Amino acid sequence: MNNSIKTINPFNNKTIKEYEVHTFEQLSHFLENSKKTFDKWRETSIKERCRLLDSLAQILEDDKDQLAELITLEMGKPLAQSISEIEKCITLCDFYATNAEDFLADELIDTDANESFISYDPLGTILAVMPWNYPFWQVLRFAVPTLTAGNTAILKHASNVTGCALAIEKLFERAGYPQGCFTSIIASHDAIEKLIANDIIKAVSLTGSEKAGKSIAATAGKHLKKTVLELGGNNACIVLDDADLDKHMDTIVNARMQNAGQSCIAAKRFIVTETIYDEFLKRFKDKVALLKFGDPMDKQVTIGTLARADLGDILKKQIDGSIALGANVISGNKQDKAYFEPTILTDITKDMPVFKEETFGPVAPIMKVKNTEEAFRMAAETRFGLGTMVFTQSIEIAQHYINTIEDGAYFVNELVKSDARLPFGGTKASGYGRELSREGIHEFVNRKTVFINH
Ligand code: NAP
Repeated sequence: MNNSIKTINPFNNKTIKEYEVHTFEQLSHFLENSKKTFDKWRETSIKERCRLLDSLAQILEDDKDQLAELITLEMGKPLAQSISEIEKCITLCDFYATNAEDFLADELIDTDANESFISYDPLGTILAVMPWNYPFWQVLRFAVPTLTAGNTAILKHASNVTGCALAIEKLFERAGYPQGCFTSIIASHDAIEKLIANDIIKAVSLTGSEKAGKSIAATAGKHLKKTVLELGGNNACIVLDDADLDKHMDTIVNARMQNAGQSCIAAKRFIVTETIYDEFLKRFKDKVALLKFGDPMDKQVTIGTLARADLGDILKKQIDGSIALGANVISGNKQDKAYFEPTILTDITKDMPVFKEETFGPVAPIMKVKNTEEAFRMAAETRFGLGTMVFTQSIEIAQHYINTIEDGAYFVNELVKSDARLPFGGTKASGYGRELSREGIHEFVNRKTVFINH
């Protein structure tokens, strides 16, 4: 097949399916269709859009197992984690079905006018470029608020989860969304550049790497189009002397190892004060040893392969580069194509790739520091800004640092995680803009000032 892409099961390396890339004519048709649908969709009531969210949630519930299997097949996540991902999408639909009307209502502001307010109007067709690591969640957390605000959406998903992209399109159709409200396209990076230039596309949302963010933001900037960028992260997980390890050790290990470490907000650098360091390392190692690798379709399996073999090669290079600079391998560091053994590294310094760069896999660099002050200083030594987490029983100390954290999130005695009720996004090289909550539904709207004198 010419100009096609293949999806490959990373666990057994078998081809799942081959898809033809859409032609330029097909893409133009999708754009026109999306625009036509927008002209009608924007006139539907928010109540009606919320009713469709209920129907979307019901279909996700009914098809949960099947959709979870598709996720696992295409990107290798253990089935239990894929099921949780679909369940999280259901809570997202419920959240906006309950709150969207309030979030999008005119906001009265007292001025010298007889009447003045902000009106939240949709923008038009929004392009989404999304990654494979949470193939349903990443798309829905963009699409649910964006469509509910009255926009239409075109999705270019990561190539390795094309089956998920097409399944999501079907979900919206089956839920009763008008045809053209949500369209999945199969397209090259060059085609995306042309789409962004097209007048029909009003804004772009990208979740992906820093490199993709720079490229897409540059194209969008050239055409003066708004972007929301959710990019990479290098979150620190600070563990202070008085951390309650009995209570939090599972959470701490999960913060790095869930989804085989392929999460933007994962704990990517562990910074541990010296008094608790030995105990922490021992417990961390014991917990990691309990992770069960195997066929991700098996519900007992707790860690899968990486989503693609080349991602293992990148990780290996980062680890080997750090070993060359003095890092010590406590466990793991074996790779076989997409399989990467959970790896613990110590004797970490800030010039090492595993400290400076984002590692997208199950590798835990653990750095020993003298005290709380040094721990927070080291945590801040990063170009990224998604989140910081700290484990301590001294809530006052944790609170003392709130205003010094430059990231989009700060979690105390909890892993950094997304929640439909809270805004989600980064600073610095992690991007800009916010998803979820009231903030997220206001990203792709025209916040129009209305001023009326009688
Ligand atoms: P990626 O290579 O940047 O790909 C993400 C998406 O962007 C894919 O659909 C990809 O398409 C597309 N893409 C990449 N370069 C492009 C370009 N120049 N023009 C148009 N489209 C382009 O990222 P990834 O490896 O899939 O995902 C991992 C990265 O995403 C990590 O850095 C992670 O931290 C970040 N991430 C961030 C968040 C967040 O919320 N902040 C969440 C999840 C992941 P193809 O597949 O066709 O190449």
